[in-house]
Amino acid sequence: MPVWTIVAAKTTTTESSNPFKAVLDFFDSPAWHFVTLMAYFFLAVLWIACAYWVFKDARRRIDDRIVLAVAVLTGIVFGPVGLVVYAIVRPPETLAERQEHELEVAMMEARIGEEERCSFCKTPVKDDYLVCPTCGRRLRTSCSQCRKPIDPQWRVCPYCEADVHVAAPVFDRV
Ligand SMILES: [Zn+2]
Ligand SMILES: [Zn+2]
Repeated sequence: MPVWTIVAAKTTTTESSNPFKAVLDFFDSPAWHFVTLMAYFFLAVLWIACAYWVFKDARRRIDDRIVLAVAVLTGIVFGPVGLVVYAIVRPPETLAERQEHELEVAMMEARIGEEERCSFCKTPVKDDYLVCPTCGRRLRTSCSQCRKPIDPQWRVCPYCEADVHVAAPVFDRV
């Protein structure tokens, strides 16, 4: 075999058999640059969206300025990871929900406050109790005719129409 054929053969093999050449060419091509550019662009959009979501959500849930700033910074610096962390540790209730909840509790307490209580020991009592079950203080008298509990201020028993005004001297409520 002449020497020149071997050399020619060698050159052709090395050029065509480099398997990374096509790949390297691709990484140098404008198409690849476009793909990386788009990837960076989408990452930036995703990052901003995450930071914005954290900011919007934190504003609705946190009233402390410092904690709010930390939450927003977490969203800006760590992007999607910050969002996940924030979603785990964020307060479960929004400020509006918490306010509503507090209002409900206050209303419930007010309703309990309206309930009749023993004037001496403040035990909640029902309107048909004759004496306070805790301290034994007399709350009502009973009608001399029908034995129903009646308020000592009443002149007539509302159940049996008996005249009860004189029959209530035992009352000692202040
Ligand atoms: Zn009492
Ligand atoms: Zn009566």
